[in-house]
Formats: sequence, structure tokens, C-alpha cells
Amino acid sequence: MARVQILQPAEVGQQGGGVGAVHGAEALVRWNHPVRGNIAPDSFITIAEETGNIRELTEWTLERALADRATLARLGHELIISVNISGRLLADRGFCDHVHAMVLGRDHGLCLEITETAVIENPTVATVSIAAFRAAGLKVSIDDYGVGLSSLSYLKMLDADELKIDKSLVTAVAESQRDRLILKSTIDLAHSLGMSVVAEGVETAEVQAALSLLGCDAIQGYLISRPVPLADLTDFLSAWGQAPRLAAVG
Ligand code: C2E
Ligand code: CA
Ligand code: CA
Repeated sequence: MARVQILQPAEVGQQGGGVGAVHGAEALVRWNHPVRGNIAPDSFITIAEETGNIRELTEWTLERALADRATLARLGHELIISVNISGRLLADRGFCDHVHAMVLGRDHGLCLEITETAVIENPTVATVSIAAFRAAGLKVSIDDYGVGLSSLSYLKMLDADELKIDKSLVTAVAESQRDRLILKSTIDLAHSLGMSVVAEGVETAEVQAALSLLGCDAIQGYLISRPVPLADLTDFLSAWGQAPRLAAVG
């Protein structure tokens, strides 16, 4: 299987409307099929999970993320690279040991994104794995918050670094006062538990402004950039550093 990793940058906001900086990027894998071209992960991740290939795929993605991060660092861009971890790998002792060995003694700058659903499905396994990853110096983000049975009481249980709010909750923020209130209490609770909050799927400046008022720490979405190959990301980062905020978004 020919695999391609693309990266989507995330911008960290500054309260008070200052200039934002790109602080990280999410690794989003693509399958480069000889006939069908680039295939999005929604079409093959589930198959990889069901056919027992997800561990190999994820280990490849982590290695690639480390290599891409090193390339970016050499060019002067120190980014955190976030990698999606399938929920079922949290119970795979061999995988967890492999990740620990991979980052041991390295300036790795990796963040593992674990979906809220994976945590809800098996809270005991998830909390043990999350604690072990964090003890090894990895950052942990709770992904897709708002897709499943989002419950503020789950947040209490989770000792993670970051909460990533799903697009479905994010998009609604510009439209409804009720959604803004829900998001505000989620952001406040996450902050009081020591987590930073990232909103994903931000497509408009209007949504970005609403999120900024609610105290959201960072945004990710087409407003900043679509997911791009590494070479395009380096061009993007250079332009971002020189241009006024959002001028590089195109
Ligand atoms: P995700 O982790 O929620 O990743 C964000 C998805 O939203 C990506 O879709 C990204 O391209 C898309 N996106 C980002 N900003 C915007 C926006 O402003 N508007 C819209 N409409 N979409 C936006 P993508 O790349 O197709 O990935 C889909 C899902 O596949 C990911 O959702 C993730 O769950 C999974 N995935 C991707 N790469 C991997 C991987 O290496 N391992 C695993 N286990 N899952 C992966
Ligand atoms: Ca993700
Ligand atoms: Ca997500």
C-alpha cells in the first residue's frame, strides 16, 4: 500500500486579537492508489482496523511524523505534530511499548489524538494508556469532542493536555446562542482541568471571531489551510511568518 502523509497546520490564537502563530500540524494519512489516486482515510482506516493492519499503518505514520517534524525544525519551524491513534490500539500492549521505545530520549514533539468515543467505549484502558503516554512525555489530545455522547463528566476523568472540539459543534457557534453557551462551559471546564482547547473545522472568520470571544486557544481548519504535503507546508509556513494574519490563507 503506497501511503502518503499530509499535514494540516493549526493556528494558536492570542487573546486580544494579536497576530496568531502556527504551533502545530495534524498528520492526515492518504492512500496513493495507482489508479484511483489519493484516497481519503475515512475510506480505508476502518478496513485497516478490521483487517489487523492499523498497527502497522499507525507506526508508519508516527515514524513519518517524526521525520517530517525534524525536516521542519531544520528549516526553523518548531511544530508539534499530532497523530491520530485508533481507539483499539490503546489496548494493544505491543503498540504502546513500541511508541514508548520510539520516543525514548528523543525531542519528539508528538501529540497523540485519541477520539472521545474510544475513551467512552473503554474508559479504564483509555485512562491507563493516556497516563502512560503522558508519563513518557507525549502530549495527548481528546479528539472529536462533541461527536459522541459528550459529557462534561467524562472530561473530569481525562487527564489529557488538549481537548479538540469537533467541527459539528464548532460550526454551530456562529449561529446559536445556545451552542455558544455549551461551548463556553466546555472551554471553561477544560481550562480549569488544565487542558487547552482547539477548535477544528474552522472555515470562516466569523466562526474564528466567535471562538476567540469564548476563550478557545487554537483553531484548525480550511480558514488557515487545507491539509497539504510537507513541501507545500514549508512554503505556507514561510509565507505565514511574513504576511499579516490570514493573508496567507488564500
Ligand atoms: P479527524 O481526525 O477529525 O481529522 C480532521 C478531518 O477534517 C480531516 O479529514 C481534515 O481534512 C478535515 N478538515 C480539516 N479542516 C476542515 C474544515 O475546515 N472543513 C472541513 N469540512 N473539513 C476539515 P481527513 O483528512 O479526510 O481525515 C478523516 C479522518 O480520518 C480523521 O478525522 C481521522 O479520524 C482519520 N485519520 C486520518 N489520518 C489517520 C491516521 O493516520 N490514523 C488514524 N487512525 N485515523 C486517521
Ligand atoms: Ca484528529
Ligand atoms: Ca477530529
